[in-house]
Amino acid sequence: MRTITILGATGSVGQSTIDLIARKPGDFAVEALTGAGNVGLLARDAQKLGARLAVTARDDLYGDLKDLLAGTGIEVAAGAAAVAEAASRPADWTMSAIVGAAGLVPGLEVVRRGGTLGLANKETLVAAGPLVMGTARATGATILPVDSEHSAIFQALRGEDIGAVERLILTASGGAFRDWPLERLAEATVEEASSHPNWDMGQRITIDSASMFNKALEVIEARELFGLAPSAIEVLVHPESLVHALVGFRDGALMAHLGAPDMRHAIGFALNYPSREALPVARLDLAAVGTLSFRAPDPARYPALALARRVMEDGGLMGAVFNAAKEAALDAFLSHRVRFTEMSEVVTRVLDSIPGDAGLPRLSASGAMPSLEDVLEADRLARRLADGFVDGMRG
Ligand code: NAD
Ligand code: MG
Repeated sequence: MRTITILGATGSVGQSTIDLIARKPGDFAVEALTGAGNVGLLARDAQKLGARLAVTARDDLYGDLKDLLAGTGIEVAAGAAAVAEAASRPADWTMSAIVGAAGLVPGLEVVRRGGTLGLANKETLVAAGPLVMGTARATGATILPVDSEHSAIFQALRGEDIGAVERLILTASGGAFRDWPLERLAEATVEEASSHPNWDMGQRITIDSASMFNKALEVIEARELFGLAPSAIEVLVHPESLVHALVGFRDGALMAHLGAPDMRHAIGFALNYPSREALPVARLDLAAVGTLSFRAPDPARYPALALARRVMEDGGLMGAVFNAAKEAALDAFLSHRVRFTEMSEVVTRVLDSIPGDAGLPRLSASGAMPSLEDVLEADRLARRLADGFVDGMRG
């Protein structure tokens, strides 16, 4: 019996994780489930799985969650600190499926206690890769990638020497607007950006897929996870979303990972690691698929990709700045304060303004490991700057 905690249990990845563990009730004991607004679903799953603790990130929903779980014996807590505390409790395996920078502190708690972390929350590594990976090396924590591309690479690398790797190729569907005329992009609505051609995911990552900010985050995530030079990490548009990533070795061989676009594949691999167990995912019929197509990403359509390169070259706290500016720009798009195409403009302006901005914590030496406080401060600064640019664009 393994103990499991799921952070972000009520979201898309969280629910797919619950689907897998609920199929093997004898194998897992649930320590904690966390969520935010959807306390009804959180309470239902906590009861269904017999969780010891249920936490909502929303302080104002404490009473609601308490009422829903009254008489069950399940412990209830609320607030960001309670989510982090849940993450710090011993569990054999913890899933980080919170969306956004809110996942950083809880994920870091798991790494600090030397736990095994299934990492869907890519923002953790974009904002604080050196801190998180450095802490994991110090505590012996295991980080298992759950992002489908990174799980694919991790699987292709099994038994291989990382020194023999020449390049990593992350595939991208191209998102909702890959075939739209460029001039129409400025008019894209939130609703149109929220529908993905192949994957069923949370709204924020779906919009990030349309803008390619998701792939931009993933390039940085791959760099932090696998330690390759930025120039060795490539992006390839692959509309069918069946090849999840490829690893190129120095002998010219490419190892590809293929599978149905179903997150239970990557989640299940991390959950059962190092064993490979049967999973309830569709099997690919390649004869029926017939053709796999690939194309180079168009830089004019996807300016986010060049921003990721710039962020990796700058290093330091720029990942935290980039992620936070992107989140603020996405908030502004969701609340109709900027157009779809203005999100990358906002992020560009934040990155442009940082080198001259005294507000960013200075790391003592280049390559030094930033502290959590440095990262959080860079995050706050970037959001402030982004909100200012958004206001300026509307004013
Ligand atoms: P989602 O929006 O469906 O779910 C997010 C979860 O985080 C919910 O449980 C929500 O209650 C919780 N949450 C939201 N705000 C919070 C806060 N401030 N504090 C604590 N918890 C909070 O998101 P998702 O699509 O499941 O994505 C989760 C993460 O996994 C993201 O980082 C995303 O990039 C990554 N990811 C998702 C997919 C996918 O298929 N959905 C694939 C790869 C990677
Ligand atoms: Mg992905």
